[in-house]
Amino acid sequence: MLHKIQSIKNLTDSTYIIRMDKNNFDFRSGQYLSLGLPDDVNMREYSIYSGAQEPFLEVLIKEVKEGDVSVLLKKSKVGQMLNVEGPYGFFTLREEDIEKREFLFLATGTGISPFHSFVKSYPNLNYRLIHGIRLHEETYEKETYQNQRYFSAISQDSKGDYKGRLTSYLKTLKVDPNTLCFLCGNVDMIHDAYDILQEKGIAVDQIHSEVYF
Ligand SMILES: Cc1cc2nc3c(=O)[nH]c(=O)nc-3n(C[C@H](O)[C@H](O)[C@H](O)COP(=O)(O)OP(=O)(O)OC[C@H]3O[C@@H](n4cnc5c(N)ncnc54)[C@H](O)[C@@H]3O)c2cc1C
Repeated sequence: MLHKIQSIKNLTDSTYIIRMDKNNFDFRSGQYLSLGLPDDVNMREYSIYSGAQEPFLEVLIKEVKEGDVSVLLKKSKVGQMLNVEGPYGFFTLREEDIEKREFLFLATGTGISPFHSFVKSYPNLNYRLIHGIRLHEETYEKETYQNQRYFSAISQDSKGDYKGRLTSYLKTLKVDPNTLCFLCGNVDMIHDAYDILQEKGIAVDQIHSEVYF
């Protein structure tokens, strides 16, 4: 289905939010879509950044140097059409958990996208979000996350809440064994965080992950 671009917001030199017409695209927060230029067979998966009830569809994309699709999408213009397929995926919250359980969200880079959608869709969510990034400028729209629920672990500058990798910080963190944990982004972080959480006594069925690359 073709969706018209409403706006493109640059958050850093390489990372941008594309907002499109929603048309009648229904999804659950945490799901992803497949995106590409019209008539181009190259499409890529992107978690949906906007909330499920919002009247538009957004994705948060980092341009990968030498990448095919993320570079082309960055050059797209307001008013242009994009091809959207989906939604896909099961990285979603169970209705019965949403207002009852405590959540720990772990993201690297643009892996923050499904968590942004959760927070937009479920305003009463009890969560902590730890964002692993390289530079402070990658704290994408951190003002969205209220009550000091957002915590940055920054590896290459000292402007974050913690200087170092997300997984190093996670080792020091007290996590209640009943917490539901959602991990999204780079596969190395997800593997390491999985082990750390299990060492902290979190059951395997309380750990959910979405691997980007
Ligand atoms: C379920 C799912 C959801 C995703 N959601 C998002 C999202 O919300 N935002 C987003 O920016 N990307 C997301 N991705 C990654 C995205 O699908 C593409 O892989 C990415 O945009 C690169 O595509 P490309 O065509 O530009 O590069 P390609 O030509 O396909 O790949 C070039 C290389 O870049 C690597 N790569 C992919 N992503 C990154 C990255 N972020 N940083 C560094 N290297 C990378 C690939 O492993 C590959 O080796 C998601 C992937 C999956 C599987």
